[in-house]
Amino acid sequence: MSKKSKFVDFKAVKAAITMEQVLEHYGLLSKFKRSGDRLSGPCPIHKGSNPTQFSVSVEKNVWKCFSECKHGGNTLDFIAKMDDVSILAAANKAIEWFHLDPETMSADSNQEAEETSEPVKSGEAPQPKPAARPAPVQEDGTPNKPLQFRLDKLQREHPYLAGRGLTLETIVDFGVGFCAKGMMAGRIAIPINNVEGKVVAYAGRTTEEPTETNPKYKLPPGFRKSLELFNIDRACKEPVEVTMVIVEGFFGCMKLHQHGCRRVVALMGSTMSAAQEELIKKHTDSRSLVIVMLDEDEAGRAGREDIATRLSKFCFVKVHTFAKEGQQPEDLSLEDVNDIFGGFQ
Ligand SMILES: [Zn+2]
Repeated sequence: MSKKSKFVDFKAVKAAITMEQVLEHYGLLSKFKRSGDRLSGPCPIHKGSNPTQFSVSVEKNVWKCFSECKHGGNTLDFIAKMDDVSILAAANKAIEWFHLDPETMSADSNQEAEETSEPVKSGEAPQPKPAARPAPVQEDGTPNKPLQFRLDKLQREHPYLAGRGLTLETIVDFGVGFCAKGMMAGRIAIPINNVEGKVVAYAGRTTEEPTETNPKYKLPPGFRKSLELFNIDRACKEPVEVTMVIVEGFFGCMKLHQHGCRRVVALMGSTMSAAQEELIKKHTDSRSLVIVMLDEDEAGRAGREDIATRLSKFCFVKVHTFAKEGQQPEDLSLEDVNDIFGGFQ
């Protein structure tokens, strides 16, 4: 890679990629067997054949060979071993393969960066770092950490987005776009911001019909969506008297926002977590009206009853029901929205 960055934040690069993506990049993922959090297969580094000698923790994004080479490490260590390059070169490769934007990656050089920038000596196997430094498992209440990178080169003008009725203005406003290659290849990347407006994750929506092997949404491992409310960072800036709308999904949220509902948030599901309830409570008061507008299906009906009951303890709540089974907020036209909200906003 010719592009030289002054700083390559190894930690940010590592946080941006997963072992699954790296294995996929090398065409190895299909050769591995999955069992819970574990992927196991023959060691691609010493090119062994025993199908259990090489093990990967999907959650922690670390790997280890229990056979000949006895190497282990994180995503960058793996690339460095596979391609016989330095950690710096491995990080630069990852930036290129996975379309990461080094400009937006944190440049605060930290201990870990210095530590991993040590050239890996071949021969003597280093003590496996992964065991000593597992990816932090988030306890309850531990917030999702802001990402140290941004996906770049997202295609704003993509037929899928137009097909879902989003205008270019909305697409740019929400920072969504089609990802041609890398970690979200073939998906619409949707940045999820925390209440302070910092990106804590990208959700990847497949542009194809979801299947068992191609899920509708991809979220980063370890990310806890129950701690976030999509669009809360902007919704919370609107006056508290403005009607708040709660929907299930990203697209319903973006569509209503496009139709002028500025205080719309999405649960990213049909249930409301305690953390989400807390966020809504914090940004409403006894004068506030909240409209619960979940999808007209079994999950939506079950969810909205519970949500309405809980929210009604601290604000006015109205439950919106759709006339037809299967209808959802995304289906509403501008006229429908004006009919529903006209009296309140
Ligand atoms: Zn090996």
